[in-house]
Amino acid sequence: MATLSHIDEAYCRRLLEEMVSIPSIVGEEKELAEYVASELEALGLRPELQVVEGDRPNVIALWDSGKPGRMLMLNGHLDTVPICEGWSTDPFKPVVKGDRLYGLGALDMKGGLACLLTALKAIVDSQPDIAGSIAYTAVVGEEAYSKGAKALLKTPVARANAVIIGEPYSGYGSGAIPLGITGKILYNIVVKGKAAHAFRPEEGINAIEEAAHIIANLHRLKLREHPKFGRGNLCTLKIEGGYKVYSVVVPDRCRFEVNRLLVPGETVSSAIEDMRRLVESLGLRAEVEIGTKPPRYEPFEMSPDEPIVKAFTEAFREVHGREPEFQYSKSITDANVFTGEGGIPSVHYGPGGGGAHQADEYLILSTLRPTVEVYLRTILKYLGGGSGG
Ligand SMILES: [Zn+2]
Repeated sequence: MATLSHIDEAYCRRLLEEMVSIPSIVGEEKELAEYVASELEALGLRPELQVVEGDRPNVIALWDSGKPGRMLMLNGHLDTVPICEGWSTDPFKPVVKGDRLYGLGALDMKGGLACLLTALKAIVDSQPDIAGSIAYTAVVGEEAYSKGAKALLKTPVARANAVIIGEPYSGYGSGAIPLGITGKILYNIVVKGKAAHAFRPEEGINAIEEAAHIIANLHRLKLREHPKFGRGNLCTLKIEGGYKVYSVVVPDRCRFEVNRLLVPGETVSSAIEDMRRLVESLGLRAEVEIGTKPPRYEPFEMSPDEPIVKAFTEAFREVHGREPEFQYSKSITDANVFTGEGGIPSVHYGPGGGGAHQADEYLILSTLRPTVEVYLRTILKYLGGGSGG
């Protein structure tokens, strides 16, 4: 395939190093968005900046083969998590040691953005005989509320037939490719008691103690068993109540938040109903309001026979000489938006490394080239008409 000879490794490496040098902590993605847009322009494309809110734009660019066909989206997120303690190098300076490049976001996921762009460059440079179009999208806010991905679903790329997300899933072990991902909701539970002098607690209803009773019984909540995911899970994340300024008063209000992972088949309303039944079974005296608050993500599962999954599987086999491993993953990514909400089948795949969301995050440089090659072969099969299924 002539297109494969157009893989520009030096270009990929330059993109990665420059992207790591541009801080893009969640909420501050603009400079990196403008950088990605300028690189897309340099390829002769006409990128658009979609303002998601304030100073936070997504980048969207389209390459059209001129022939009708599928639309394949290449996607990544611009944002990184904030700097955490313990870095032994400057997190905003790419530092190479052996086969590793250290820097914040190197793995999650500036490496993926660079590889996807390098694959697109090989397409633009070689103009292969394929049909349909490729949308390159880089979004804000994956690490928090997926606002960028949600905004993207309001643009014409929402009609993409499939999406490749350049997250660092290597295709084996803990990096097995997700064929499905859990969803999640955040319960917001407000317990309303009755104030009284705290020397006569029996005259009031203690909202904190009633809330504690619910939390201590959360393990009794009925979680649905899914054949592939098993059960979801629960974690209390926050609790607040009691006086602002010290006072000997029975607290009349307590609010707490519980994260719940959902498996396919569980919905927001079924989850609220589960909690309502649990609370009723406890015979509390307080009034309990059960609600949810953002963020909320839909779970999904896909068939291994999805055309994009088949195209990727063949491409992976050709490059790595073995089958990719798949998993049903207890996690959250922008695929919950694209696939769970938008119904666009997805493949997660990206370069290797370690330390995502930790100090000394690094990317393994020798995985860049094979990653780009898997992307390109997947694109050619999927848009090639036929061979991709
Ligand atoms: Zn990520």
